Amino acid sequence: MNGHRDAAELLAGARAERASLERAGLKGASLGAKERMAIPQQEMPSQDPHERARNMDEVALGYSEDQAVVEASRCLGCANAPCVKGCPVGIDVPAFLKATAAGDFDVAFSVIRESSMLPAICGRVCPQEKQCMSSCTVGKAARDPLKAVAIGRVERFLADRARAMASAADPAAAKGAQSPARAAARSGAVSTPANAKKVAIVGSGPSGLTAAADLARMGFAVTVFEAFHKAGGVTVYGIPEFRLPKAIVEEELRNLEALGVRIVCDFLVGRTRTIEELMEKDGFEAVYVATGAGLPKFMGIPGEDLVGVFSANEFLTRSNLMKAYDRDRAATPLYSAKRVAVFGGGNVAMDAARTALRTGSEEVHVIYRRTEAEMPARREEVEHAKEEGVVFDFLSNPLRIIGDEKGRVHGVEFLSYRLGEKDASGRARPEPVSGSEHVVAIDACIVALGNDSNPLVPATTPGLKVNERGNIVVDGNGMTSIPGVFAGGDIVQGAATVILAMGDGRRAARGIRDYLAARPGTARPR
Ligand code: FAD
Repeated sequence: MNGHRDAAELLAGARAERASLERAGLKGASLGAKERMAIPQQEMPSQDPHERARNMDEVALGYSEDQAVVEASRCLGCANAPCVKGCPVGIDVPAFLKATAAGDFDVAFSVIRESSMLPAICGRVCPQEKQCMSSCTVGKAARDPLKAVAIGRVERFLADRARAMASAADPAAAKGAQSPARAAARSGAVSTPANAKKVAIVGSGPSGLTAAADLARMGFAVTVFEAFHKAGGVTVYGIPEFRLPKAIVEEELRNLEALGVRIVCDFLVGRTRTIEELMEKDGFEAVYVATGAGLPKFMGIPGEDLVGVFSANEFLTRSNLMKAYDRDRAATPLYSAKRVAVFGGGNVAMDAARTALRTGSEEVHVIYRRTEAEMPARREEVEHAKEEGVVFDFLSNPLRIIGDEKGRVHGVEFLSYRLGEKDASGRARPEPVSGSEHVVAIDACIVALGNDSNPLVPATTPGLKVNERGNIVVDGNGMTSIPGVFAGGDIVQGAATVILAMGDGRRAARGIRDYLAARPGTARPR
């Protein structure tokens, strides 16, 4: 990480780099491996940290065309394509990079679309450095996955370009009212046969939506049931607007509806209807449970019940889904706090801390028991948080939260730590420093220690097997202990990632197709 660099400077650099590649006659396929390795990685332009720390606009501004072409030209086109194996949905990465380097952007985008329903989302939020980029030969040569070909950034460029072109051709789309014909064309719609078998999807996060898209394309009649008033799962209620604009998720949902998928919101499976009722009374022949991991973990320390203590889930949901940050228009109240402490060191903690800054807190501290080296959050997110002014208090942990006479948070007692031997996770074990207790004035605490699986569906579905952590147990096709009931995403894996949830959705769609094909009287799937 180099600190923030001016966007205009980055774009000018890319323009010059592309021109020099073209001048040398080294376009596309004629570049050798040595020349490709010498091309500098294209940095993502971003908003100025001081400005963005107080607005909700997207931080990363996206690659220019020059940057996308130059970055894609770094791909070596390895014959064994290790990056494809590193992608849970198996996108043909070398093929889309090759087409991008040659300026064939439509071809490049159609390669991605074959495997991914949500490229504009994945291009923004996938931890590529742990997936496709971690296997990239260019990154391996540099001994740093962050220096690999920036696959996600090119994916984002292609997805955004396709959206912009669709909007230009159909201005209604730009206002969120995409014409059915265009949405259908963009999503590769097929008409659902009248006698199609009914499949229910429970939960509209990335896993449910991917399964829904695949099943609709296979010719099934698909209904997605969502508990919230808006579909999209964590991409809508958890990941903040400044990392993933909600208009992008909205558009992906419209594409899904154009495929014939019905999305029913405000429908809590387990209360409005049980899985058994969906299958026995409502005629669904298979169900895919993708209810995620939305049950926040707490620390169990004194004071966690005080006014001003939030789970990261609640805090982010208020801000994202209920738009509490939009104080002039939204009815959802936002707790007002000058000094905020966020407990945890993962991506959710970074999102909560950066949201607290943007919603008016003056001082935001991330409290983490180990050091920066052990923090599970993406390096990019940590750097962005630091640039924006989030303070990191390492080797520290709360002992108790202290309230005032009205029961509102007004301080936290911390204990300092030092690092000891490595523990079972391979990370250095934090050891308390005796006598290091100290109290700090704090007005609000956000607990971001991770989430457990949503328990409602297992609790209301007799015979549905879960493991000791409450995650639903599935076989290699994604089927649970109940025939016809499949599951995947965070409810199976525990809190994981968007792309892993999508991979599960894809596997379950194939599993459901094969399961229904083997049942008598089932319409033949595509
Ligand atoms: P979810 O996205 O959780 O969706 C489940 C849906 O099911 C929800 O909409 C929920 O309301 C609904 N539901 C639950 N119970 C019921 C019910 N009984 N009836 C009907 N509907 C129900 N991953 C990344 O790859 N990159 C990131 O940058 C990233 N950032 C994250 C930031 C935050 C704040 C959080 C919380 C997670 C983040 N993740 C990130 C993780 C990622 O979002 C999840 O792994 C992914 O969304 C899981 O998808 P899913 O479809 O399994 O579940």
